[in-house]
Amino acid sequence: MKIVTSPAEMQSIALDLRQQGRTVGLVPTMGWFHEGHLSLMRKAKDVADSVITSLFVNPIQFGPSEDLDNYPYDLERDKALAAATGVDFLYAPEKDSMYTDAFSTTVHVEGVSEGLCGDARPGHFDGVTTVVAKLFNQTLPHFAVFGQKDFQQLAVIRQMVRDLDFPIEIIAHPIVRESSGLAMSSRNTYLKDEDQDAALSLSRGIANAKELAADRSATVEKIKQSVQQDIEKHQACEVEYIEIVNATSLAVCDNIDSESVILLAVKINNSIRLIDNSFLLASS
Ligand code: AMP
Repeated sequence: MKIVTSPAEMQSIALDLRQQGRTVGLVPTMGWFHEGHLSLMRKAKDVADSVITSLFVNPIQFGPSEDLDNYPYDLERDKALAAATGVDFLYAPEKDSMYTDAFSTTVHVEGVSEGLCGDARPGHFDGVTTVVAKLFNQTLPHFAVFGQKDFQQLAVIRQMVRDLDFPIEIIAHPIVRESSGLAMSSRNTYLKDEDQDAALSLSRGIANAKELAADRSATVEKIKQSVQQDIEKHQACEVEYIEIVNATSLAVCDNIDSESVILLAVKINNSIRLIDNSFLLASS
């Protein structure tokens, strides 16, 4: 596996790969790899001849009171994991090469970036779409793989790709979970042993919501209330949002149907922000 840090070198490698007739798959990440990330890389290997994983803790998608300074980072650890997964290029640009002092462009997607994490984290999706647009131009992928764990992010990226005519196929990968049900996340590393039960309230809340939805008699409001009550039984948990939305438009659902997704964001101990989601009528 080759390590690339310069945007110009990355783009020149990507151009060469394309000229050789190879297809390129990109997996954008912020590092501290776990099985969720690695499964995205394996998916990229399945569909593309060459796989680029980007590792960049993107400062412009963090709010001023968020965890940018503490975000877990260990390049050597991540290099070993990516190499063992068969990644061809680990692209880890420096912050200053991504955002020079003269940088003054923002990619803003309207509609699907509003509400949910868009409300809870003002400016977050502008940071995401701006960096992903740059990564697309630097790595020139045919395919880019994103996790359904960040459900709204996936919708925002799809909208950007459609609107800006990026010739890239966006591939969604299902959420990878711990055996406990906890959705894998780099931020799980902040959880202490005593936080585990509180953290599990998200996936348990989703399981409860799915049971209620399967029954068909529960309303959207009833399901949301029930999940909120369960989660708030844990003193450490503060619900940021619980919403049931249409998977494509992200519009709030009046009724549950096969396209309804429950999305949750919960803060543990006022600091560790966890998200999770699931289609309500799906079996897994
Ligand atoms: P991050 O490094 O957290 O920005 O995530 C990089 C990519 O990995 C995003 O597309 C995430 O949606 C995806 N991802 C993170 N956690 C998981 C997970 N548990 N299962 C599947 N994909 C994930």
